[in-house]
Amino acid sequence: ETIPTFFAAMAQRQAEHPALVSRHQDRRYSYAGLRQASLQLASALLGLGLQKGDRVGIWSHNNAEWVLMQLATAQVGLVLVNINPAYRTAEVEYALNKVACKTLVTMARFKTSDYLGMLRELGPAKLPHLRHTVWIDEAGRGDEQPGMLRFSELLARGNPEDPRLPAIAASLAATDAINIQFTSGTTGFPKGATLTHRNILNNGFFIGEAMKLTPADRLCIPVPLYHCFGMVLGNLACLTHGSTIVYPNDAFDPLAVLETVQAERCTGLHGVPTMFIAELDHPRFREFDLSTLRTGIMAGSPCPIEVMKRVVSEMHMGEVTIAYGMTETSPVSCQSSTDTPLERRVSTVGQVQPHLEVKIADPETGAALATGATGELCTRGYSVMLGYWDDAEKTREAIDAEGWMHTGDLATMDDEGYVNIVGRIKDMVIRGGENIYPREIEEFLYRMPQVQDVQVVGVPDRKYGEELCAWIVRRPGQALSEEQVRAFCSGQIAHYKVPRYIRFVDAFPMTVTGKIQKFRIREAMKEELG
Ligand code: ATP
Ligand code: MG
Repeated sequence: ETIPTFFAAMAQRQAEHPALVSRHQDRRYSYAGLRQASLQLASALLGLGLQKGDRVGIWSHNNAEWVLMQLATAQVGLVLVNINPAYRTAEVEYALNKVACKTLVTMARFKTSDYLGMLRELGPAKLPHLRHTVWIDEAGRGDEQPGMLRFSELLARGNPEDPRLPAIAASLAATDAINIQFTSGTTGFPKGATLTHRNILNNGFFIGEAMKLTPADRLCIPVPLYHCFGMVLGNLACLTHGSTIVYPNDAFDPLAVLETVQAERCTGLHGVPTMFIAELDHPRFREFDLSTLRTGIMAGSPCPIEVMKRVVSEMHMGEVTIAYGMTETSPVSCQSSTDTPLERRVSTVGQVQPHLEVKIADPETGAALATGATGELCTRGYSVMLGYWDDAEKTREAIDAEGWMHTGDLATMDDEGYVNIVGRIKDMVIRGGENIYPREIEEFLYRMPQVQDVQVVGVPDRKYGEELCAWIVRRPGQALSEEQVRAFCSGQIAHYKVPRYIRFVDAFPMTVTGKIQKFRIREAMKEELG
């Protein structure tokens, strides 16, 4: 099945049911309305001369236009290219040229970011493939932009009854590429994963199944849409189950999330751990009635057990689950079911999803390891990407001849198939021949009540090869000294696991998806230590 065929059926089945609420834009769409608008936009995109397989970029924070673009491009077989709104001139130039985008949809500006200004600065000489730039004009406002098209103007040119639409939809195959997503850039330069209808539609469906979504559910989505978390675990999980998508804001803001959950009576909430922490620790947290919440997914990076427990007890999300995945696998490959007992649900990433395979392999040989052993997690099945766009070599390194995607993550699996993520191969610290998984020490330090968030990395050391370093964010108004941290560790964990360097910081270097970039912490420490 393709995205257009499933969406046509869903829009018919529950035409008047709410599909989308974009709070910050004050816009609401029913299923029929969303389909009508996406067909109109698809027709307008054809009017720009775009053809099946052409790449169309979207460089924007969350809004209704984003999901319209997602549906409209899939409708006519265009390849949507998700571009991170935090990208600046050089990065957007790279992304657009790498995949030869012909059309780009973007915001005019956002806070201090002047998107159109950045594109003008690059100009046609540096963006040789780009033919049309479309800017999202909130409620028809905004100055004229010479040579650029308003989104509302583009949309007005389209005809939802365009006779070309059904014919094109019928010609699409489930294995056609429809999406290029760049990875988060947590470990270095982002890579463009090419995904198909089959990849992301199925993954969205099975995520919705695991969450037991129904049309009665209203899912608050503060995670960015340009990333698979928002686009697949959010949008597609809802749309495949007739549920309602709710955007609290354009970029993440914990207060907007709390207000939205209350006002829209949301039943689900997604987030990366740092988002849930920001919501729970918001000074006004107690003012909001969050009792409608039931479910949601925490994912994207290691999910501290203490945070999961608070989400259950203080946000009423008794059915919250952890998902594990990566952009290259559409993204989710393991997920706990809501039936999993809480202790286990908060401490593992669950079991492999239906119709997928997972193995824990020796990182060197690829051979499957015995239960309980730590090795590289590999995934195989419908969810594995076609490949990295225009990079056959990187694709070959990632997907082996038997179709296994090598994730670069270290994990264990118990005899019931529950998977535990130990950390990234790149983050593992080897101190004096001893393998140390930073995650373990993070979980331990996290138990100190004064600690709001903590990251542990390895830094080069002449004597031991590597030494441990902890960066700690203190809870607001709480004092905590290096001595107290050391005293807390003393006698509780092995001496070689006690961080040699302890630093107190206000925040960690992060991607805009809210993922912590440990490589930047390592860089900063290298600089400090010389
Ligand atoms: P890049 O590949 O560019 O360095 P990235 O790997 O962070 O960035 P994504 O594809 O967004 O890009 O993230 C996938 C990674 O996130 C996984 O490989 C894993 O390391 C981490 N991750 C995802 N979910 C979880 C989870 N539940 N627990 C622990 N880690 C997770
Ligand atoms: Mg990655």
